[in-house]
Amino acid sequence: MRMTRVYTNQPLAAALSGHSLIRLESMGSAHLIKVLRMRAGGKVTLFNGDGFDYAAEIETPKPESAELRLINHKFNPNESTLKITLIQALCRGEKMDWVLEKATELGVHRIIPVQTERTEVQLDAERAQKRLQHWQRVVISACEQCGRARIPEILPIRALDAHLAAKLNRDIAWVLEPGSPGLGLVLSEFSASNDIRDIHLAIGPEGGFSERDLAQFSAADFRSISFGARILRTETAGIVALAVLQNLWGDLK
Ligand code: SAH
Repeated sequence: MRMTRVYTNQPLAAALSGHSLIRLESMGSAHLIKVLRMRAGGKVTLFNGDGFDYAAEIETPKPESAELRLINHKFNPNESTLKITLIQALCRGEKMDWVLEKATELGVHRIIPVQTERTEVQLDAERAQKRLQHWQRVVISACEQCGRARIPEILPIRALDAHLAAKLNRDIAWVLEPGSPGLGLVLSEFSASNDIRDIHLAIGPEGGFSERDLAQFSAADFRSISFGARILRTETAGIVALAVLQNLWGDLK
């Protein structure tokens, strides 16, 4: 059976070299001790987002703060060399959670939730902050499950134009828009020697991007591209694109 993986935000490398015990946070402890009923001597993998997996053994099985001894660490090779930034127009609660979870499984590097002209969901500052914390838990739990040791970054929600104003480096910037030139045509412009490492990919909300949104993308050098003739739901489009791009230039061969 696969080793249970638990996230902690503690400095694991320092604890390993200092031979100190890790006192796990209440959520992780409850999961190991109450849910999985693990006991002293039980083996788990800890990670904190630094790219390494830490083998650990339960020393004191306290359900609120289990104590674990770190045994060793090894580099976790499950990150794609292709860095995909998903610019996702805000969609309703569970859909957004679904996008974040699946995008994490598909190796997304960074997620930028944006408000577009037709975004239906409006959040005040307090709810936006709560939502961001909730999303962070969603991607962490996806990392526990899928075996990643780096946590995709989620940026705070921003208006589309505010995001586009900050010029970020990338090899490719695509905005998915039905009816645009298809993937095959766009790819024919690339030569096999093109080294694609960094892609920014924008997905519209349920109602699609407006003319104004698309003009902003175009001014920021995003190319419109379609992913097939069928209209995909917003929560499907990004996932399909991630899978295709990981296959083209990433680690889904
Ligand atoms: N109501 C809109 C579609 C919205 S689908 C319309 O009829 O045009 C939500 C988002 O998913 C779109 O804004 C787009 O970014 C993406 N999308 C869905 N299907 C797509 C396709 N076939 N090609 C490219 N992008 C697509």
